[in-house]
Amino acid sequence: MFLEVQCPLCLEDGSDIDNSLILLGDDQQNMQCTNCGFASNSKYKGEIGDILENYPDDFIGVCRKVNDRWWIPAIYNTEKYMIAPKIVEDKLTWVIRDQSILNAEDVSMPTFYDAYVVIQMMETRSGQVQQQTSDNS
Ligand SMILES: [Zn+2]
Repeated sequence: MFLEVQCPLCLEDGSDIDNSLILLGDDQQNMQCTNCGFASNSKYKGEIGDILENYPDDFIGVCRKVNDRWWIPAIYNTEKYMIAPKIVEDKLTWVIRDQSILNAEDVSMPTFYDAYVVIQMMETRSGQVQQQTSDNS
């Protein structure tokens, strides 16, 4: 089961998108926003240094606390691609990585949503290509 609700971070940023936050409905209350890319769960409360032990300071610097809960930029996986946060000069950016190519070049994206739209498109296209290939055989 999962639910789509309004993301408190996007709301705080003035967005009126009301279904970008996906709640997985598991015990840990895991959730990730498909608009801003931030994720949280029931354990992300308290001191950020305790939650993200051994994380670099610049990463901790872009985490956000909203409604007494910490939100961190999170990796998003699809079948073939991965979107990962990358901090460049203390600013949060995102990269797309092709999981099927070893040592593939990261493709930089300014926002999570840009990356999300691009991988949706690439997944759809590669799905169609596979379909055509199997039709021909
Ligand atoms: Zn969001």
